[in-house]
Amino acid sequence: MDFSARLKELESFERKDNKASLSSMLKQNGFTRRDFLKYSSAMAAMLGLSSTFAPTIAKAIELADRLPVIWLHMAECTGCSESLLRSDAPTIDSLIFDYINLEYHETIMAASGFQAESNLENAMKKHKGKYILMVEGAIPAGQSSFYLTLGAHAKKGEEIAKQACNNAAAIFAIGACSSFGGIQAAAPNPTNAMPLSKITNKAVINVPGCPPSEKNIVGNVLHYVLYGTLPALDNYNRPKWAYENRIHDLCERRGHFDAGEFVQSFGDEGAKKGYCLYKVGCKGPYTFNNCSKLRFNQHTNWPIGAGHGCIGCSEPDFWDNMGPFEEPLKSHLFKSISADATSDKIGIGVLTLTGLTIAAHAVISSVKKD
Ligand code: SF4
Ligand code: SF4
Repeated sequence: MDFSARLKELESFERKDNKASLSSMLKQNGFTRRDFLKYSSAMAAMLGLSSTFAPTIAKAIELADRLPVIWLHMAECTGCSESLLRSDAPTIDSLIFDYINLEYHETIMAASGFQAESNLENAMKKHKGKYILMVEGAIPAGQSSFYLTLGAHAKKGEEIAKQACNNAAAIFAIGACSSFGGIQAAAPNPTNAMPLSKITNKAVINVPGCPPSEKNIVGNVLHYVLYGTLPALDNYNRPKWAYENRIHDLCERRGHFDAGEFVQSFGDEGAKKGYCLYKVGCKGPYTFNNCSKLRFNQHTNWPIGAGHGCIGCSEPDFWDNMGPFEEPLKSHLFKSISADATSDKIGIGVLTLTGLTIAAHAVISSVKKD
């Protein structure tokens, strides 16, 4: 891929002139150029590029303010935005998010009421066909769409989301709710909440998680800045660069799983020794995400590191399919397992076998240890 042509093209795009430069924002927040290059190198690795691409990534980040982004809130808790923005010591990811040309984001913009509504309309008109759309939250749809009305004219969320999708260059469903319906769509789904992909015919890239890590959000913007195309996807439309590995495969407790060393109950000796959390409900074997590699809160920790099993938040319908969260699944049909689209049958067969092995392994070791 000729990144230089793409970056040159971006350089010719209009930039918002009232924005502080990225280097001044980084400096103000205590980051050096070296920190930035280190970050760019980590981003290159995350996107599957070698570290020699770090300067290219750095350039792409600096040009990220050329692409307009519209962020919509639907039926949700704003946890995904919080994941990215709520920090007393901003991360480079959150600064980049501040730096991009964010044309509309209800949580962080000053406008409200009629003014906010006309800001959105103007942004969609001005950047028609060129903006990146990021949508947070599920969407009450069809006859139940009135469960979500927004703005001074009480427009339905479904109507706003559809309109924004129609004119977007790329569409990202941010978080479990927008990707798969989330808790709003949990049975019996009283508001008929839908994933974004169900209310538009356009391609939607799912970035699930409850919340997704800030790197998975910013990484998608960067991927689009750099490539100008959509990333390779798995069969749940999640970008492979972020969601192709199982939590279980990259877990720091995996050695204990293989050795049959399990936490039997929270707070026991095994928990103190950092044993595997499978028997207290970890859903890592059934969940695809990169949390173990990227972690959260400036790479400080992640749920399994903190002593609770994965609850499968990046899988479809995890509220209904992965519970109870603190017990192993009695039976798992692997309907949410993302086998490679071209080898579904074989993949699911292998994964089912893996699942049986996991269950057998847990039973055998429980006999050994109990
Ligand atoms: S079951 Fe969970 S805690 Fe155990 S190794 Fe797998 S992902 Fe890690
Ligand atoms: S560890 Fe599991 S539940 Fe926790 S954030 Fe990652 S995918 Fe979601």
